[in-house]
Amino acid sequence: MTARVGMTKHLTLTFDNGPTPGVTEHVLDELASRGIHATFFVVGRDLEREGSRELVKRTRDAGHRIGSHTMTHTVLFGMADDRAVLEVEITAANRLLGDLAEPTKLFRPWGGGGNLNKDLLSPTAVDLLTAGGYTLVLWNSVPHDWEDASGWVDRAMSDIQARDWTVLVLHDIASGAMDNLGAFLDRVIALGVTVTQEFPDECVPIRQGRIVGDIERYIHG
Ligand SMILES: [Zn+2]
Repeated sequence: MTARVGMTKHLTLTFDNGPTPGVTEHVLDELASRGIHATFFVVGRDLEREGSRELVKRTRDAGHRIGSHTMTHTVLFGMADDRAVLEVEITAANRLLGDLAEPTKLFRPWGGGGNLNKDLLSPTAVDLLTAGGYTLVLWNSVPHDWEDASGWVDRAMSDIQARDWTVLVLHDIASGAMDNLGAFLDRVIALGVTVTQEFPDECVPIRQGRIVGDIERYIHG
């Protein structure tokens, strides 16, 4: 008898940089038609766009998790350890989400193209995240969907096959990449991957304000 325990691959799907009216609706439809749930990390200033707030509400009501992806998506915290700037990017962005955000205060910093290095955080950013009770959600797969609208699918699939638990970063923006989301999801399902809305410890160095992982490797000294 072949042991199958431990063979199941896990996938956590995340969509950053939305909501984008005209794109996010399509993403929601593709997920809903397959009974898949994800987490959406929203850029605060984009909430001011016409129809955006309603779209995030619809996303939440469909059972997806909502987190903050900074206010402006322009500040690498490791390069700008300025408390006033970071309070806007972290605290004000979360406040803007209001009741759209969940109590665990999911927060994802801008990685400047998906980079996980010491530019990601600063001592002040970590102070604000821990004092504010945030959950810092990082990632381990960035298939660059925003610059390769079809090639990302193969890269994502090989990441998923190479790891036990993949936290995949996609973007619900007008890049054309989300036209291939349905085909990608069908491949995920065909592979027998378990899709979950939980995040592995490896990608969550701060949980609800408590440092629980290796945070030093992301802090500019
Ligand atoms: Zn982003």
